[in-house]
Amino acid sequence: MEQKRIIIAIDGFSSTGKSTMAKALARRIGYAYIDTGAMYRAVTLFALENNLVNTDGSIREEELVARLGDIAITFGVNPATGQSETYLNGRRVEQEIRSMRVSDKVSQVAKIAAVRHALVAQQQAMGREKGIVMDGRDIGTVVFPNAEMKVYVTASAETRAQRRYDELRAKGDTSTTYDEVLHNVMERDRIDTTRAESPLRKADDAHTLDNSHMTIAEQDQWLMNLYTQIVAETSNGNN
Ligand code: C5P
Repeated sequence: MEQKRIIIAIDGFSSTGKSTMAKALARRIGYAYIDTGAMYRAVTLFALENNLVNTDGSIREEELVARLGDIAITFGVNPATGQSETYLNGRRVEQEIRSMRVSDKVSQVAKIAAVRHALVAQQQAMGREKGIVMDGRDIGTVVFPNAEMKVYVTASAETRAQRRYDELRAKGDTSTTYDEVLHNVMERDRIDTTRAESPLRKADDAHTLDNSHMTIAEQDQWLMNLYTQIVAETSNGNN
């Protein structure tokens, strides 16, 4: 029997390792992978580079919204690494969008309703053919409420801050302290869960994965088992 292509929505807090596991699953099953956080990060980088952030750190919302039409976000696969990379108006920005400068502002940009509407519409278009793994905050609740497979990933703030801190160190950032990273993680959690426009929450039909004490291999296997089970069920028509 031919296997049905489905939509896989992976949501959760920042630095839970969502992207790592979503990417690994997509590669394993031959699906496209979309990192929606990278899209909000790219819009944030655009705001920072185009004088759309005030000196007190607030975003010039109206001006940013008026310029949304000037922002083209695309993804391309780096042939050397096989990894998907983010492009902002044709320029590769994969490194810059992961910097603390962007992390500090991204949740403020992501709570602007018009920004969300524009990006959600693009994300829905990307999933039209199914066969996609998408990670973010509102994929199972807003972008694809009918996704066949929904996962909600969680881990303690300290575990997530440590992972993010180790990542920044590995990339050569020695100026950011663990406490700064923990503060950023907790602040983003707060903004992401309390914003008026599609706050982060678990969809009723999502499967929760707490990976605080799991290895990468264990979480990959957990995800693969769930995928196999759901595809078997949907291919039999009894979803
Ligand atoms: O996933 P990542 O941590 O890179 O996302 C960066 C930020 O983008 C999040 O803290 C959140 O504010 C925002 N975001 C969002 N909705 C998504 C994906 C990310 O609001 N679907």
